[in-house]
Amino acid sequence: MSAAESVTANFVMVPPNDYPLLVSKAGSGSGTVTSSDIDCGSVCSAVYPSGTEVALTATAASGSVFAGWSGAGCSGTGSCRVTMNAAESVTATFDEVCVVPAVTGEALRAAERAVEAGSCRLGKITRVFSGRVKRGHVISQKPKAHKLLESGAEVALIVSNGTRKVLLGRSVDGRPIVAYEVGNPAGPRRELVVGCIHGNETAGIAVARRLERMSPTSVDLWIVPVLNPDGVAAGTRGNADGVDLNRNFPYRWRTLSGVDDSGPHPLSEPESRAADRLIRRLRPQVSIWFHQHLDAVDESGGQIAVERRFAELAGLPLRRLTREPGSVVGWTNHILPGSTSFVVELPAGALAEPAVVRFARAAIAVGTS
Ligand SMILES: [Zn+2]
Repeated sequence: MSAAESVTANFVMVPPNDYPLLVSKAGSGSGTVTSSDIDCGSVCSAVYPSGTEVALTATAASGSVFAGWSGAGCSGTGSCRVTMNAAESVTATFDEVCVVPAVTGEALRAAERAVEAGSCRLGKITRVFSGRVKRGHVISQKPKAHKLLESGAEVALIVSNGTRKVLLGRSVDGRPIVAYEVGNPAGPRRELVVGCIHGNETAGIAVARRLERMSPTSVDLWIVPVLNPDGVAAGTRGNADGVDLNRNFPYRWRTLSGVDDSGPHPLSEPESRAADRLIRRLRPQVSIWFHQHLDAVDESGGQIAVERRFAELAGLPLRRLTREPGSVVGWTNHILPGSTSFVVELPAGALAEPAVVRFARAAIAVGTS
């Protein structure tokens, strides 16, 4: 100090501090974070005047879920509100998830692509014969569509192999005797359903045709709509030789003549031989033979619980009818102990559609369990 001095301190108004807000993303999935100034996406930071309230919203991309916030005091999966009193950074975590696609009815190739696109993994593929779903197309899926699972979760598919049609043989007059296989050829159980053996008892054919269009998954179901095509063509009980095929099998066979002509010896007829071959090859746990018109399920000598269950589901009484010599159910129950082969006597006339469905479902139910 060599002279008098004066000092002036000048204070000026300065704008409040601006602070940056930085958004970053983490996790295996993807998504966007937005506010009025941020679209991250591409714009992942903004500068705000001190004291500004910023609300951030996270939106997961398809195939991802938003797992939550961290940083700047934010947590959870709601919106993130930040008051800008300092530089802040916020992280949004997106996880990839398996979004189970809807693939029922799709071709297998398309279904595979959809499963991968959904960040899921193809699980077990079970191939079953089906008359309802086109060959190579998905009959059903597990889990159901739209479920959110951990990324890479397995989606199991049941895929149609179409219907398998097998020529069993030919009738006396050369008509084809055809079987259809639907359901799971590798399934734990096999079932045989024959729509018509007496040519003038044709109501069961509609049940057989209905079964051809079904896709049971836990039974290997063999359907013979008509074992006696010549009898159906002529409207007769017997085949073209006049033999009652249901008296022509080797168990307790004896000579009968007239309307239930047993034939000259057991298995004398090509139709019964075709049935016999099929039965011995399949060894079905359950066989159902449709007749008319006594309106009852017959206690035919197999497991009565199976017959009773069918009777309940079908809405028919269970009765013990006469056990005829040389009948196919007697023969089957004899050669396959523990199995159940039984007669269902439908009412007279044609079945109404709801009854057809009821009998078909009952047949699948007793074949499945
Ligand atoms: Zn009959």
